[in-house]
Parts: sequence; structure tokens; C-alpha cells
Amino acid sequence: MSSADSAATPHDPATREASTYDPAAVEAKWRARWEERGTNVTDIAGAADPYYALMMFPYPSAEGLHVGNLFAFTGNDIFARFQRMQDLDVFEPIGYDAFGIHSENYALKVGVHPAEMIPRNIANFRRQLVRAGLMVDWTRELSTTDPAYYKWTQWVFLQLYKEGLAYKKTAAVNWCPNDKTVLANEQVIGGECERCGAQVEQRFLEQWFFAISKFAGRLLDNLDTLDWSDTTKTAQRNWIGKSAGAEIWFDDIKVFTTRADTIFGATYVVLAPEHPLVDAHTTDAQREAVNAYRERTARRDLVSRKTSKEKTGVATGGFVTNPATGEQIPVWVSDYVLMEYGTGAIMAVPAHDERDLEFAHGFELPVKKVVHENETLIESGPFNGLTVEEGKHAIVAALQKQGKAEPITNYRLHDWCISRQRYWGPPIPIVYCDQCGVVPVPEDQLPVLLPHIDDFKPDDSGVSPLARHDEWYRVPCPTCGAMARRETDVSDTFLDSAWYFLRYPSVGDDAAPFDPAITKKWLPVDSYIGGNEHAVLHLLYSRFITMVLHDAGLLDFEEPFTKFRAHGLIIREGSKMSKSRGNVVNPDEYIDTWGADSFRTYLMFLGPFEEGGDFRDKGISGVRRFLDRLWVSVRDADPAVTPEPDVMRKLHATIRKVGEDVPRLSYNTAIAAMMEYMNTLRASERTPRRAEVEPLVQLVAPFAPHLAEELWQQLGHDKSIFDSGWPAFDPALLAEDEITLMVQVNGKTRGSVRVARDVTQDAAVERATADPGIAKFVTGTPKKVILVPGRLLSIVV
Ligand SMILES: [Zn+2]
Ligand SMILES: [Zn+2]
Repeated sequence: MSSADSAATPHDPATREASTYDPAAVEAKWRARWEERGTNVTDIAGAADPYYALMMFPYPSAEGLHVGNLFAFTGNDIFARFQRMQDLDVFEPIGYDAFGIHSENYALKVGVHPAEMIPRNIANFRRQLVRAGLMVDWTRELSTTDPAYYKWTQWVFLQLYKEGLAYKKTAAVNWCPNDKTVLANEQVIGGECERCGAQVEQRFLEQWFFAISKFAGRLLDNLDTLDWSDTTKTAQRNWIGKSAGAEIWFDDIKVFTTRADTIFGATYVVLAPEHPLVDAHTTDAQREAVNAYRERTARRDLVSRKTSKEKTGVATGGFVTNPATGEQIPVWVSDYVLMEYGTGAIMAVPAHDERDLEFAHGFELPVKKVVHENETLIESGPFNGLTVEEGKHAIVAALQKQGKAEPITNYRLHDWCISRQRYWGPPIPIVYCDQCGVVPVPEDQLPVLLPHIDDFKPDDSGVSPLARHDEWYRVPCPTCGAMARRETDVSDTFLDSAWYFLRYPSVGDDAAPFDPAITKKWLPVDSYIGGNEHAVLHLLYSRFITMVLHDAGLLDFEEPFTKFRAHGLIIREGSKMSKSRGNVVNPDEYIDTWGADSFRTYLMFLGPFEEGGDFRDKGISGVRRFLDRLWVSVRDADPAVTPEPDVMRKLHATIRKVGEDVPRLSYNTAIAAMMEYMNTLRASERTPRRAEVEPLVQLVAPFAPHLAEELWQQLGHDKSIFDSGWPAFDPALLAEDEITLMVQVNGKTRGSVRVARDVTQDAAVERATADPGIAKFVTGTPKKVILVPGRLLSIVV
């Protein structure tokens, strides 16, 4: 073990002797040169072939750049550099998502003001990002906390307000009594605050909402047009949650159902405890019990109501008419029905709904079966014998004629609550005037600056700390000039990030959030890479804001991200990285020891980029050895001798493979192919010819940019390797490297396929079964396969 371990350091004597590759010196030299030459500055106005390669911007934590951030950014950087080498004008920007409760809570914990903490964190992030060798255009850096940025976040709010899509309403919210803030449903785990573990309460607050639910249909339908990871599209579809159904009147109670076919089995109706008709249906005898139940529900949080197994409820004592049967059925109240979904009332069909059945059993309510096992209706009067689908339509149509039903599509997607009763965010640009009512701050008076206050800790009042500062809170009404009051809520961090991609190309423009001509040129984003944890909300909100701005005539596209790929996660030595485990990879340490180029390449070698991999300390030495060998190969390359045909064939196969793998983010296989080529190039320590090694430097460039620049210069080139184009492969050479393999199935020759000379058995089978003429004989899983190299593939099924 110890000898193997000692070989796994960059100071291995054998390697050091052979190589004079000094990553620290090479990387410092090229960082300086890129900066000096403006190598990574994109000509935004003049670009002929714009390509926008976006990565999700980070939250600048005090701990510094997480290796997971760097994994994501490097993956994007390689893709971006590759596109640049295809002669595109690539724009790779970065910024900081620095507002929000994470920053604020951390600042409170350590007793520093966020306005002092965030710039320090950003400086540290920038240092680390520069060191990682990203092709970032630093002239377009942004931070959401910069007034020059959030001025336009406030402007976005005003556009929604103007379009009637921002409104205020009182809503039941999850309230964390410890963090003293509203929590989204996703932040409540088992009735407890995700952040601090406190028991979550329900409160009623007046808040600002964006009417995203009006866009549910479009947000759903447009997904079909996007080149996104399937998992991401599925997550969005589930979140939007379309269900086709009907609204049906049971006297004055309107229910929503997707199973109108089962209405003859509806034996009672259930109202959400908050339903406005509860009082009207409650009899005097039941009033006390109903009120007690409603009070009890009011104390429960929304999430446990949705997930709770135990079904509780109380009878109102009232009855309504089932419009299909004409029978009187009882009205109940239960918290398993939510006011926010559908109409807040359901028809209960215990025979065909599990939750209804549990409830019916608990309260001894009748169960009436109306759908036979063969999926046709029974006990349903004139509709008997219809299939479930036929029954749905026929029953809704019949009730619709009597004015008792209406077909309707429902969505799970709720409006977006953007109010935060906190300090560290952009103030919502609204003023309340006793004379004029709700007055939006005029656009030419933006930004509404976030004042520097020292007592930014939230209290139990549920009102933002900004309300405690009269000098800020009291303001003349923009319309009439009378003394008025500012809105004291700040907006959700997700609003900051819902439009930042529009800003990057126009950073520095103080007259507009995004310049129309530049936006037309650069957007929508060509490629977006980011984490799956943002697959739902961030991407959905960004799509929504883009649609709104499109409809307002401010953008000529309605989908912001043409292509999206979610990257995987990395673990370390088999377990999840976490501060408490003490196994978090610190990028600085690894870059100190191995160099940024080795670190980048190793991160990409861990596994498929979209799946992630296991970071093992020993693995990085193999990558470093590969780069050392590349260094030596260039140094020792002989320019005079003719290249060897076998090596050139392998080189061109490698050029083809890397060129196919990189655009589909299959970085690990591209690196493996380059390493394999290195073994051919240096077989028996042969001296490489210059023509055999020069294109390899170009293939390596997106992965190890500093080293590639240095070697490119050593090979006598003046310009950046990233402006050298991408090497082409010669199909004629590749054809020479292919052979014809006869294919037999069960002993009979069924055809032939062209494969690489050194094809593996699995690859040969794959190629053979891709040929329809052969595949039709391969009926079932092969029992036995024999590959006679260079001649024959025999498959027995
Ligand atoms: Zn909490
Ligand atoms: Zn006024």
C-alpha cells in the first residue's frame, strides 16, 4: 500500500525527472496572459456567430467555492471552450446569487452584516474561479445584491404589476417560529422547518403573489419543444400537475373531480375546513364540534396535512343532493381536502378512491361500487355498460345540459408567493397612500435602495425589519405627495435568478435591463448547465418571467433556455460529502498540490457528467501522469520524421471520438480515449512525431486549458489555442482502420458489418444487432457469443 501511495503524488521522483511540467508556473503565466490579451472577453456587440454557454450562478457562501460548484462550472467550461474551437463566438458569464435567507441567516449567526460579508465572500469566490481556469468574461460579472442589478429586479416586478400579474392576497403560510419567516412547502419536512427543525405553524399574512398559474398550460405545452434532460422535463410536468376533469354542483357546493364516471358512487361530500360554505351547512347541533375541528386544523402546517396518513374530520349535520342520483348525501369537513386545490370541496367515492375509503371506514359512511373490474360502469342508471372514459364524458355532458357541470382542466401549480418578511433582498417597489391606495414606484425612481440597518434580525411580528425604520418606511406618495408608507417586504431570491441570464450581455447598461439589439443577438441561451435541485422552481420561474416579458412585447422569444442539461453529483470515497463528516474536498488544496488542469480533468474523469461520480484521492495521480506524459511528448516530439500510419489511424479515431463525446457531455469517455491514444503514442517509449502529438494538444485544451496554451506556444504558435479551430479527422484513415466482420446467427451467416480493427465483443454485438437484416434473426437475448478477431462474430440465441 505504502509504495503505491507514494507513487500517487506529483513529487514521484521518476515522473519529476522525466517531466519539467510545473503547473503552478504554467497556470500563473496563462492566467496573466489571458487577462492581458483579453482572450476571454467576448465581443458582445460584434460577434458573428454568438453562442451563449450559461451555468447556474452560485450562492457565494462564506466557506468558499464548493467542489460541487467547480464540477458543474468545469463541465460547462469544457463545453464552452469546445464550442469556441468550432469557431463560434462563445459567451461564458458568471455572477453571484447573493441575496436571500441563506446569507442573512449566516450573517446573523456569525454576527456580521451581510453587506460586509457578501463582498468578502464574492472576492474569495472570484479568486477561486479565476484560479480554476474558467473561460469567463470577467467584464460582465454581476451580483444580485448590486443596486445596478436589483434596480432591474424591481423593474421586473413593476412589469408584472402593470400586466395585472402581481397581486396581493391574504394567504395561509407555513411559519417557522424560530427563523421567523414564511417557508415554502418544500422547506417543510415532516412538519418541521428544513433549516432549523422547529415545529412549523400556520399563519395568515398579506403577501404579494405572481399569477404563474395562469401560464400553467403554456409552461406545460412548451416543454415538448425544449431540448432538456428528460428527468428535468418530467419534474416540471409533475410540478405543473395537469388534470382534466369537471366541476360539478352538489346544490350550492361546487366540487372538482377527475372521476365524474364514479358520481353514482358519491356517498358524501367533503369541504376543506377553510371553505366559506362550512358555516352555512353546519347544523346547530354540530356547530361546536365543527368550530373546534377548524381551530385544530388552523394550527397544523400545510405539508403534514397533505401527507398525513390519519384521516380526521367532522360531520356538518347538513346534506346536499347528488345531482346524478338525486339522493341526499351528508356534508363533512376534513383537512385532507385542501382549499388551495380545485374548489376546496370533493365528492367522496369511497369504493374507488383510497383516501375516501379510509375516511368512510373511519366514520362508517356508505361505500357503493359503481365500476366493475372490467372497467365498465354499473349501478349508474342510464350509463351502465359504458367504459370509464365514455362514462366521464357522457355524465359530464348530461349534467352540463342541466347546468350542473362544466368540463375543466385543473393544475397543481399555485401562484408564486414572492413576499419575504426579511431584510436581505430587494425591497418590493410599492408605496401605500391613504389617498391613492397601492402606488407602484415610478420606473425612473428605481432603485428603491435597501437601507443599511444594523438591527436586521426578524422578530415575531411577521413584519419585515424594514418596518422598524421610519426614516425609510415613511415616504411621500409618488402620485399625490402626501405622506405614505413603503412596502416593507423584500422579494424572493428566486426572482433575482429568474431573469439574470437576460442581464449578462447587457451588464454595464444603466438605461435598460437588457438592450433590445444585444438581446436579439444573444438570446435565448444556447446551452444551460446546472443542478437538478433547481430543476423545478428556478427553471419554471425563469420560463414564466420570460413569457411575461415576451407577452409585454419586450422579448421576441418565450422560452429562455433552448437546451438544458443537469449535471450529476459527486461523492467522496463512497459517501456523501458533508461538513459534519469532515470529508468535503477543498478545491484550493487540490489545486495547490496538483494544479488546476489536473484537478479539472480529474473531476471530469470521475464518471458521466450527467451522473456524477466518486472522488478518490488516489485517482487524480493517473490524470496528472497523463498530463506529464503529454508535456514530455511535446518536448521530445520529432518534427522531421514521418508519422507512423498505425499511430495516425489511432489519432484520427481519437479525434473523432473526442469530437463526438464532448458535445454530449461524455467527458469521462473522451478523457479515456485520449489516455488510450497516449499509450499508443508512447508504446515502448517510442519518440513521438510532431504530427502525432500536435492535434492531441488541441483535444486536451478544453480540459487542461493552461497546459494546452503553453504546449501550443512551445509548438511555435502565436495565437491562443482556443482560436486555432478543432482538428478534423480523415475518414479515409479511419476506413483503413476498419475491417469487415462476418456475422453468424445460430451457425448461419446472416450478413457482415464494418467495425474497428480492435473492436470489443460487446461493441461488435451492438453494431451487428443495429443492422436490421441481422437483428431479425437475433430473437431474444444471446445465449452465447464468440468473436474471432478480424474475421467472425457468432451469436447463438
Ligand atoms: Zn426554522
Ligand atoms: Zn397619494
